[in-house]
Amino acid sequence: MKRLFLDEAKINQTLSKSKDALSLDFDGVIKKALSLKGLSTEEAAILLGRSDPEEHEKIFQAAKSVKESIYGNRLVLFAPLYLNSRCVNDCTYCGFGKSIGNDLRTLSSEEIKNETEALIRDGHKRLLLVAAEDPKNFDMDRLERAVDTVYSVSSGQSKIRRVNVNIAPMSTEEFRRLKTFGIGTYQLFQETYNREMYSSVHPSGPKRDYVWRLHAMHRAMEGGIDDVGIGALFGLYDYSFEVLALLEHTKSLEKEFKVGPHTISVPRIEQAKGSEMSLYPPYKVTDNELKLIVSILRLAVPSAGIILSTRERAELRDELFHLGVSQVSAASKTTPGGYSSSKVSEENSAQFITSDKRSTLEVIKSISNSEFSPSFCTACYRVGRTGEVFMRHAKPGNIKHFCRANSILSFKEYMLDYGDTEIRRTGLELITKELKKMEEGLLKLETEKKLAELDHGKRNLFF
Ligand code: SAM
Repeated sequence: MKRLFLDEAKINQTLSKSKDALSLDFDGVIKKALSLKGLSTEEAAILLGRSDPEEHEKIFQAAKSVKESIYGNRLVLFAPLYLNSRCVNDCTYCGFGKSIGNDLRTLSSEEIKNETEALIRDGHKRLLLVAAEDPKNFDMDRLERAVDTVYSVSSGQSKIRRVNVNIAPMSTEEFRRLKTFGIGTYQLFQETYNREMYSSVHPSGPKRDYVWRLHAMHRAMEGGIDDVGIGALFGLYDYSFEVLALLEHTKSLEKEFKVGPHTISVPRIEQAKGSEMSLYPPYKVTDNELKLIVSILRLAVPSAGIILSTRERAELRDELFHLGVSQVSAASKTTPGGYSSSKVSEENSAQFITSDKRSTLEVIKSISNSEFSPSFCTACYRVGRTGEVFMRHAKPGNIKHFCRANSILSFKEYMLDYGDTEIRRTGLELITKELKKMEEGLLKLETEKKLAELDHGKRNLFF
């Protein structure tokens, strides 16, 4: 049995100390963050303890600058694909709980194929497979078939190039097997790191086991999965506590495996059918607090991708893009079968209701009009830039050179295959600007060469 890496009492102490000591060096913490060295939990607590709007603004500005230094201005797009909604757990905030009585389903291989085709036709190259916990109807064999099915589908010259998964925690041996399926990131949210709240919102089912879930990422890494994605469901407990716990989680993985989380997700509770709690989250997080959460995580763990989903409203998403978010979903459905079947109703079968209903093309237009570079890149995973190798590029801020080139190429491919006349025109202007930002040298020359190849019908070009 592993020793718990999380000391809740210590986190609470750190938080209360930072509130008492008004003289603590706020500017010093911002200066350290700007040097891309990350922050200790004590330093992050100093930022979390501030309530002055001017200081908040300084945090936001610093986060924006750190995000640009590490990843440049690219935003990677992905879509979730829900495989099932039958679940043996009964999380009080979720629409998939077994006692809620929603329309529950498990997709067949044919249905997974249809969903994948619909997502490819929408321009996606990177999917997150999401499965509810239902060992009887959805076991490892079934998951393996689902991943194979997704990778096997093609539409024209396009295919899904990276499959990430969000599924219940497994043993080290099962993670070892999961790695052989060819997945990118293994993602799992602790929901809340506060043990008491965790017990109260998970009244039954295997998910009740807080410690099994807490150490899932350690087992995943032992099993050879070197890109893991952590997260907390904001609204369940005090957000400052959750941010520090995410940092403790990060530090524990870095200490043991020399690699922190590849991504950190910041979902907020959204309305879910049959869940009273989803309407009145016990620790509701305001928009400004979410901005602080994203910014402080960006400053504290500069190399991690921060993921934002369509749970959030379009206008807020556009603001959060500036503060450190680096990966976003678009046009998501949280209903199994929701992309390809008109019979599936969001009202009766969604896990929760999404807020940003824009199409992928609309999201792309909004991103590119705000001077961000949309990216469908899946290169790092395919050339072996994962785990420690990825971190060696990301930590000093070198990954952005690959990110920019791959964003330009994958965006151009999207424009040619799925864009309308407007995005083809504005997209070309953006690509010209992005190329100008590239240093003169081999990478730029090769990018220009590959852009011309795309015009001549070649696809799937990356560095
Ligand atoms: N079986 C996996 C597991 O054990 O985590 C997947 C669970 S669920 C399908 C994926 C994520 O959805 C959860 O980890 C939770 O954070 C999020 N979620 C559940 N209910 C939600 C709600 N009402 N609003 C926003 N996010 C929610």
